[in-house]
Amino acid sequence: MKRFAVLLLIIPVFAMSAAGCVKKYPDVGQAPLHRSFFAMDTIMELTIYESRNADSPESYDGDDPGKVMMDEAQKIICDLEGRISVTDPESVIHKLNSGMEVPIDEATRKLLSRAVGMCELTGGNLDISIYPLVRLWGFTTGEYRIPSSDQIREALENVGYEALTEMIASAAVQDASVLPDGMQIDLGAVAKGYAAEKLKSHFVSKGVKSGVISLGGNILVIGKKPDGSKWRIAIADPYGDGFAGTVSVFDRSVVTSGVYERYFEDNGRRYSHIIDPSTGCPVDNKVMSVTVIGDDGMYCDALSTALTIMGEDAAADYWRLRGRDFEFILINSDHKMIVTGGLKDIFKADDKYGPDAVRYIE
Ligand code: ADP
Ligand code: MG
Repeated sequence: MKRFAVLLLIIPVFAMSAAGCVKKYPDVGQAPLHRSFFAMDTIMELTIYESRNADSPESYDGDDPGKVMMDEAQKIICDLEGRISVTDPESVIHKLNSGMEVPIDEATRKLLSRAVGMCELTGGNLDISIYPLVRLWGFTTGEYRIPSSDQIREALENVGYEALTEMIASAAVQDASVLPDGMQIDLGAVAKGYAAEKLKSHFVSKGVKSGVISLGGNILVIGKKPDGSKWRIAIADPYGDGFAGTVSVFDRSVVTSGVYERYFEDNGRRYSHIIDPSTGCPVDNKVMSVTVIGDDGMYCDALSTALTIMGEDAAADYWRLRGRDFEFILINSDHKMIVTGGLKDIFKADDKYGPDAVRYIE
């Protein structure tokens, strides 16, 4: 049984200062501010290169404003995790999943509402009520197992995001809410993308013009690099430690999901942590990874998971159906890449993939 985590690389890597310790908000040419911590089951790396028009240092009571800005960012993540974690008994999602009737705070309600919107938008490939299946296959505890078809059928009876719509809408006007009987929620497929957006808003409100938010497979870049050029983001290679290619972007989210990220093996078969809600089983369709590039972190996070489930052809159709409002790179089990046309000038496959490995679609 194996468990893998992915780290997307930002290249070139700049010299980074120790945990956010500079004397004032950095301007061009100053050492970057950097903060690294573990949260939401991943390593989070926040790097700010350039900040102007920031709040005046006086408002920080003499504290180092750069450090305060990073402390606040870390607190945003901590608060979010404290509300939506499926394992923390104090979180509102854990309480709901335990069948309790509890108040749902407005921020969590809005997140749930957006997440259900993404389930609809992906035709139910993304389904935040998938948690009974995630648990059944052992992905919550790491005690992996292959359930019987009866167990899968039974768990699937409690899956279907449509049944959450009314509860989420009415939570706005009710003192306390309860999930429909047997249902359980998991925001894991969208939480990091949402978190990246929250961090971006925080930094931008402080005058940040250039930075990188890297939340384990979820990258969001603010502006351009301090020298005015684009960021070159390396895309993890599902076949090894290196990277499969690079994409040059500014003001974008670059989010990768895939079956190689977290899985277990049994009898030579691989069982991924991404579950197809139409079967109740780990996705098994030749897709190794999907990287989605777009302007909203949560949208990209939701889509990278959903496109992985859709598979190659349906993902391409979906891209056209959505009016090409995002781009993607899909790597399949034949070591081939399917890349959307909008990336032609900004994507470069690593040499090990060879010229015939990349197919652009229109
Ligand atoms: P990660 O967050 O691990 O980088 P994803 O964004 O693809 O990867 O999210 C995968 C997580 O989402 C799983 O670990 C599980 O908690 C949850 N999940 C699995 N299948 C689905 C699904 N069909 N719809 C919504 N969430 C899912
Ligand atoms: Mg996702």
